[in-house]
Amino acid sequence: MRIIHLGFIFTLFISACTKMTGMDKMQSEPLPQSWPGGAKAAIALTYDDSLISQINNALPALKAHEFKATFYLTLDTPGYSDHLEIWRRAAKSGHELGNHTVSHPCQASLSGREWVTKDKDLDLYSLDRIAAEIKAVNKALNRLDGLTERSYAYTCGDFLAGGVDYTDSIRSLVSGARTVNDDPQGLLKEKFDLMRIPSLAVNETSANSMIAYVDRLISQSTLGTITFHGIGGDHLSVSHEDHKALLDYLNENRDLIYVDSVQNLLEIIREQASRADSIH
Ligand SMILES: [Zn+2]
Repeated sequence: MRIIHLGFIFTLFISACTKMTGMDKMQSEPLPQSWPGGAKAAIALTYDDSLISQINNALPALKAHEFKATFYLTLDTPGYSDHLEIWRRAAKSGHELGNHTVSHPCQASLSGREWVTKDKDLDLYSLDRIAAEIKAVNKALNRLDGLTERSYAYTCGDFLAGGVDYTDSIRSLVSGARTVNDDPQGLLKEKFDLMRIPSLAVNETSANSMIAYVDRLISQSTLGTITFHGIGGDHLSVSHEDHKALLDYLNENRDLIYVDSVQNLLEIIREQASRADSIH
């Protein structure tokens, strides 16, 4: 009787969790067994909010190792609008210009969100409004890179617009979506929803902590991402030195972990999934 009771509670808990995360409509994809070069793990380095320190510090550091990354651009920022040519060149050199909305709306109702203004309050958005904003960014970025597919990063990691999970309203607009996972252990298992790509969000994080995350990805043969903001400046920053030390470590371990943009990793995942389907 006690076991049945606990099982019932567990079922309720799981159904509550899937409702909260939108995972009940999950379109899962299997993780590849191996990545280009034979690596068993993969990572995407992602940089949010179109910040000047990313232009000054992240782009040259990535270039030193020829790593390709994803820059989640918010259009209504000077780092984007004053530097269109730099982003155009970044795309030409292989970086992904990811979608991070026009105005960076976030849920003002969450704790610590006093800074969210009414015009950027995701709690006051409709599903149509957030979808329209994401469409507008796709159109603007297409003028820079000529591409029609790109990934998205949830602003502030929020999934709710007007209190409703907006994942399914934008699923057809983007190739996948990166979350901001509070749980750095949040490693992907065999299958996952492309609209819930987990990430280690860093802020004043040491190179050693970031390297420990990379080591976990390698030991679990899985895929992860890191969410950067400022690099040696701006907000939520990590130092230029710690960022460089992470890139050096990734470079030394290229045979173990593959580094590429979110879009390129998603293309590899889809390609391997369709190949597996055609074999079965
Ligand atoms: Zn952001």
